Amino acid sequence: MSVESVLSVSDLDVSYGKVQALRSVDLTVDEGAIVSVIGPNGAGKSTLANTVSGYLDYDGTVEYRGDSVREHSPESIVESGLIHCTESRDLFGFMSVDDNLDLGAYRRGDREERKDLVYDLFPRLAERRNQHAHTMSGGEQQMLAIGRALMSDPDLLVLDEPTLGLAPIILEDISEGIDAIQDEGVTVLLCEQNVTFAMNHADEIHLLENGEFVRSGPPEELRTDDHIRESYLGG
Ligand code: ATP
Repeated sequence: MSVESVLSVSDLDVSYGKVQALRSVDLTVDEGAIVSVIGPNGAGKSTLANTVSGYLDYDGTVEYRGDSVREHSPESIVESGLIHCTESRDLFGFMSVDDNLDLGAYRRGDREERKDLVYDLFPRLAERRNQHAHTMSGGEQQMLAIGRALMSDPDLLVLDEPTLGLAPIILEDISEGIDAIQDEGVTVLLCEQNVTFAMNHADEIHLLENGEFVRSGPPEELRTDDHIRESYLGG
């Protein structure tokens, strides 16, 4: 039985006015896989995440479950299970952890069950369930953003820079959370600047530089690539 592609992108070009941010990007994310797009600041990772979520105009093909995202509003894309956890996290700062999670559950009815799952994945959130989101550390807020995305039982989770600005100790918690998400069978597109983190989680990696994929392959292959070692893994 062939594995169904959840996300299929081909020959994708995206521009902001005269600035071309993505050029001829091809990408497939299969059921249950974690595919990571790595690259430096300004490479175009967020542009890719925003495009597959239906927020940007594009040339080329972007299909989620065989359906062109161009034909759908961002709201209906969320409805169908593509959940985007943005770089800015977009939490409701003056609401509690618990209330932020409840707001993530509108796509699915089994709210308490999902919340138990999120609190199991991130016990730190359970300890802080009544705390206002804006008073939490950056790492805790990131856990909450991922937890809120999980509340709607995503079919495809798009994570944009989940490790941004986080201390190594918190990275371990986020790492464990992502492992558990994978065990749950959630398909993930991980846009990430932390190459080591991406390599530890992804089944396949694409290196984006100046809007183009310059390397693609499984982490074990790319770990030995001279350009990736010298520029991204410290030699
Ligand atoms: P970072 O990790 O710093 O967020 P990134 O890899 O996510 O970087 P993008 O944010 O996608 O990169 O940016 C890609 C390019 O597109 C950059 O040159 C950026 O300046 C440009 N860009 C992004 N958003 C806009 C916008 N709204 N208007 C104009 N140019 C934009």
